[in-house]
Amino acid sequence: VTKGQSSGSSLHGPSTKEGADDLQTKSAVLHRSLKHDPLRVVSAEGHYLRLSNGQNIFDATGGAAVACLGHGNKRVRQAVMEQMDRVSYCHSLFYGTAAAEGLAKLLTASTDGEMVRAFFISSGSEAVEAALKLARQYHLEQKPSQPERKHFIARQQSYHGTTLGALAVGGHVARREMFEPILSINSSRVSPCFAYRGLRTVLEHESAYVRRLEAELEAEFQRVGPNTVAAFIAEPVVGAALGCVPAAKGYFQAVRRVCDKHGALLIFDEVMCGAGRIGPEPTERFSNPLHAWQDPLIGVAPDIMAMGKGLGAGYMPIAAMLANKKVIEALQHGTGAFSHGQTYQGHPLACQAALEVQRIIADDDLVANVRKQGVLLGSLLREKLSTHPAVGDIRGKGLFWAIEFVSNKATKEPFESTEAVAMGVHELGMQDPYNISIYPGTGTVDGRRGDHVILAPAYNINEIDVRHVVDVTDQVVKQFFRKYTDMSLKTRLVN
Ligand code: PMP
Repeated sequence: VTKGQSSGSSLHGPSTKEGADDLQTKSAVLHRSLKHDPLRVVSAEGHYLRLSNGQNIFDATGGAAVACLGHGNKRVRQAVMEQMDRVSYCHSLFYGTAAAEGLAKLLTASTDGEMVRAFFISSGSEAVEAALKLARQYHLEQKPSQPERKHFIARQQSYHGTTLGALAVGGHVARREMFEPILSINSSRVSPCFAYRGLRTVLEHESAYVRRLEAELEAEFQRVGPNTVAAFIAEPVVGAALGCVPAAKGYFQAVRRVCDKHGALLIFDEVMCGAGRIGPEPTERFSNPLHAWQDPLIGVAPDIMAMGKGLGAGYMPIAAMLANKKVIEALQHGTGAFSHGQTYQGHPLACQAALEVQRIIADDDLVANVRKQGVLLGSLLREKLSTHPAVGDIRGKGLFWAIEFVSNKATKEPFESTEAVAMGVHELGMQDPYNISIYPGTGTVDGRRGDHVILAPAYNINEIDVRHVVDVTDQVVKQFFRKYTDMSLKTRLVN
């Protein structure tokens, strides 16, 4: 065990015993936590991350649903090396590359003409920023120009990124709170489509729920002035903010109707749920679907969409914004340029890595495997954990599943935020003998923090590994909540 690293029995290495000076000098990186240095990863292969303390961790989350091919893929490595030998950087203001062009062609082709242009940047947040700005520019340059359209409607308990624009439209209370006074985009939020907490009673029919949400969105358009709305933005399947929530059938058709009626654009944030993650079902039109919106459950194409995470599978920092013909034509007939540029836009190495990742997904028919293993993952999770007293809901699609924890199953009361349940489950999972990375999420309950954990393994996972993930997760969850029964909170949990 290296000095300063975990021995495997505690997640964050030695505590404050070493003194304040040591804490300040230990790491030069500004990590999320200034109190603890994170564990150090020394190598990674397939599903496993090897830590400097000797632990091998099963990466059941691919980071935050990123590493969709697992780690150390040789084809991606080779493609990036070859691109490095050709050209590693040129400025996209003056030059294009075969890497960016190839990726854009592959992505637009995957939409069957719904999206006609792709714009590449380095993170999901930047893809959302670009989408917001493109929506604004579209309204300025469409005929007749509509400069009054500067309001964005999003949903409560949503997360669209960490930069100021993306944070402003998003509804993740804990992540917004501190920066509220400097979030200046005009935006407001309506209820998400979240049956577990949104249905009035268990007897409310899904179609009645969808009508209620449609009426709420319509009312919000009327409240802010329908002609002032630039776009509605939502995740087709909600990721971190709620924990793998697929929309109810018909919901996005209803959203589309309201947007079209009032001339607002529809933006889909597929940063987390896209690029095959939810294992979209094939339809007559999309026989090899890649995007979440191609699943019949969602069933409508957006005007603008953001992709990230699974696009480059973590091999390079890359994200994309795609736009449809209507939007692009308005700019073509307007100023003739998208007024948004970044130094690393269309980065050749990043684009080539993502191109190879997407080719591998297609060549190995990985979205079909996501569908197949996803069914197994979901059913095993439910089989093992749905009757546990602290498990409120198990939901998801494809290889994107969440377990929501509650302190009272009947009332769906969340745990106190001070109990940090999701993080606690993650930390226990990281310990020997479990050695598994489970993603901790918060923000499930309006105005209050809730707890869920996400499982999002690589698309090439096999049945044996799915069973391993579920078995270990089951053990971790049960072990974690054992302490509550020991601490005489039993009555609360079993009620
Ligand atoms: N949108 C969604 C739906 C996300 O899940 C995330 C990241 N969790 C982002 C945007 C921001 O992406 P990034 O962290 O790459 O900036």
